[in-house]
Amino acid sequence: MTLEQARAALAAARRVAVLTGAGASAESGIPTFRDAQTGHWARFRPEDLASPDAYRRDPETVWAWYAGRYRDVTQAQPNEAHHLLARLEREKGDGFFLATQNVDGLHARAGGERLVELHGNLSTARCETCGTVAPLPDPETFTPPPGCPVCAAPMRPNIVWFGEFLPELALEAATRAFEEADVALIVGTSGQVYPAAGLALETRRAGGVVIEVNPDETELTPYLTYSVRDVASRGLLALLDPTD
Ligand code: NAD
Ligand code: ZN
Repeated sequence: MTLEQARAALAAARRVAVLTGAGASAESGIPTFRDAQTGHWARFRPEDLASPDAYRRDPETVWAWYAGRYRDVTQAQPNEAHHLLARLEREKGDGFFLATQNVDGLHARAGGERLVELHGNLSTARCETCGTVAPLPDPETFTPPPGCPVCAAPMRPNIVWFGEFLPELALEAATRAFEEADVALIVGTSGQVYPAAGLALETRRAGGVVIEVNPDETELTPYLTYSVRDVASRGLLALLDPTD
């Protein structure tokens, strides 16, 4: 398939399913896990902080990490990739579905509505005692851990950690959307984290077209129809903007 054909397939598609990963937010200045291996947190591997075990052992350190990331994302802005995907959603209407592995909330801030956050959200906390999910206070005044507004127990970050299950309804909705999609777009994900990465293969298995936008080759590349080797903003513009 050529870029021209990929663009035509996307324009003609009635149903489009999009999967985004950390690379979609890289141009907003939010580091991918690979980029995060620098600076103060370099001595921690995300895998060693983003787990139920880590939280049980050392909740203060885990909360400090998430509170810092929460502060960073509230200062970041959606980038051109988020805006182009929000525009695609307006064009396709109910035929559009987006599943993100990102926890930064930037798709929603760019106007996205038909979306599920498969790995949770940095700006909310969850109570393990009663299940309440509540927004975090302003990052400037926030000192973790937040107390549950219903039962006063200390709350945990509302993040799906390594070894935990994804939210069932969100994953079901995403699976259906990828099975039914004429075209799936896979933007800025390394394709190493399952089951999210498996969504791309659902579309392929059902005979749909799967297009990746990523500057680097990924684990998924060999199974896909077409790869745009560029950063998310320029890659999506090449696919969506017919004016060149
Ligand atoms: P990942 O870090 O494993 O992979 C990032 C991918 O993005 C890589 O394939 C890389 O080549 C690509 N990339 C880098 N810069 C890009 C750009 N400008 N445009 C397009 N692609 C670019 O991330 P993942 O696949 O999302 O999976 C890792 C996990 O990390 C997820 O579970 C996610 O929840 C979590 N995470 C989220 C955020 C966020 O919310 N912004 C940030 C870091 C990690
Ligand atoms: Zn509670």
